[in-house]
Amino acid sequence: MQSAMCKVQCAIQTSDGPGVPGVDRPPEPNQSCRMQSAAALTRFLERQMPDALDMLRAMVSINSFTANRDGVNQLGRFTAECFAPLGFAAEFVPSANPAYGHHLVLTRRGRTSRSIAMVSHLDTVFPPEEETRNQFHWQPEGDRIYGPGTHDIKGGTVMIWLVLQALRAQAPALFEEMSWKLFWNSSEETLSHDFGDICRARFDRETLAALVFESEGRLGEQRLIVVARKGRATWRVTVHGRAAHAGGQHSNGANAVVQLGQTVEQLAALTDYSRDLTFNVGRISGGTVLNRVPHEAVAEGEFRAFLPEVCAQAKAALLSLSGPGKGRSPVDRFTCDLQAEILSETRPWPRNPGTDRLAALWQDAGRELGIPVSVEERGGLSDGNHIWDAVPTLDGLGPWGDNGHCSERSADGSKLPEYVEVTSFVPKAMLNLAALLKLVGS
Ligand SMILES: [Zn+2]
Repeated sequence: MQSAMCKVQCAIQTSDGPGVPGVDRPPEPNQSCRMQSAAALTRFLERQMPDALDMLRAMVSINSFTANRDGVNQLGRFTAECFAPLGFAAEFVPSANPAYGHHLVLTRRGRTSRSIAMVSHLDTVFPPEEETRNQFHWQPEGDRIYGPGTHDIKGGTVMIWLVLQALRAQAPALFEEMSWKLFWNSSEETLSHDFGDICRARFDRETLAALVFESEGRLGEQRLIVVARKGRATWRVTVHGRAAHAGGQHSNGANAVVQLGQTVEQLAALTDYSRDLTFNVGRISGGTVLNRVPHEAVAEGEFRAFLPEVCAQAKAALLSLSGPGKGRSPVDRFTCDLQAEILSETRPWPRNPGTDRLAALWQDAGRELGIPVSVEERGGLSDGNHIWDAVPTLDGLGPWGDNGHCSERSADGSKLPEYVEVTSFVPKAMLNLAALLKLVGS
C-alpha cells in the first residue's frame, strides 16, 4: 500500500536541486519511491553501460537460433546468472515442443504481492551457419553494434537488467517492495503459444503490468512504444482436380493449377487496407509433369488484422472458399474441389484501455524528461499478443536499433544487418524508470 506522501514523491526529479553536482546522493529512508535527479540517474546508468555491453556481447556470442536447442538453453542459463546478483531465482520451463529450448522464468519476491512482469525472448532467427557465412557477429561501428539479436531482443534483455539495476541502487525500498516476474520465451520467433500460458499462470490480480522489451520504433525524434499488434492466421487452400493425358484426353482433365490461379486472385482481393486487413499469398505449387493435366495445386499464406472481428470475418471468408470451384472438365462437368483450412492462429492485440493507461504513463514520463514519446500499432507479432488480455501490456520498451532479422551486408551499404544503437540505452532506461515509478505510485 502506498502512502499519499509517497505518491507525491514517485518521480525522478528533473533538476539536481540541492546537493553536490556529480555526486550521487544515497537513497533517503522512508521515501520508497523517490529517486535521484535525472542528471544523477543518467550518470548512474552511464556507469552501468560497460557492464551492460559486456553482458550483451556475451549474449550475442551465444547462437540462440530457435531450432538450436542447446544454444537457447545456454543463453537461458547465462541470463539467469546475470540476474542472480539482483536476487532472482530461476525456473527453467520445458517447451511444449521438445525440439525447442526451455523457457526461462526469473522471480524475485518482494515485501508485497504487488508485481510487475517483464517479457523478452531467448531465441533469434539466425542459424549458426548463416552467422558464419555472413560473418555476422558482434561488430561495433561508431554508435552502432551489429550482431545477431543485438536489438531483437538481447538488447531488450539488457534493458531489463539496466532498469532493475538502477531501481535496486537508486530506489531500494521500491525495488524490495515489488515482486518482479521476468519471462523469456525460448521460441518467440516461431510463435509458440505455450509461453503465453506460462506467463498467464504466474500473473495474478496484483500484477500491475506486463512490459515487453521488443525494440522501440522511431518516427523522427519520436520514440514509439507499441500499444497494439495485429493478429495473424496462416492458411492453406488445396485444389483437387482430375488428372488427364495432356495430349490424348485433355478434355477429361479438371486443371487444378488453372483453378488455383482463379482462387489466388480471390484470396488476394480479400485484402482491405481500410480495415487494416492484409491477405498474403505466400507460396503456391501444383502439377507434376508437363504432359499431364494437373490434379492438385496448393496455395499457402497468411492474413493479419488488428481487430478480432476483422480476423473472424477474414477467417470466415477464407473457409467459405471450400467446396466446388469453377474449373471443370467439359466432358462430364467434373468439378475441381477446394479445401480451405487454417493452419495456425495468433490472436490480435487490439487497442484497449489497460494498454492505453500504461502508454499515458510513458508519455507523461517522456514529457517530464524531454523525450518525445508516441504510440505505434505494429503489424508484427510479439508475446504481447498472448498476454494483453490477462494484464495491461505495453511493448517496444527495448533500445533502438534497426534491420531486425537481416544478417547480410552488401559492399555498397544498401544492405546492412541488424544493429542496436548504443546511445539509445540510457535515455530509454530513464524513460522506463520514470514511467515505472508512476506506475507503482498510481
Ligand atoms: Zn523479438
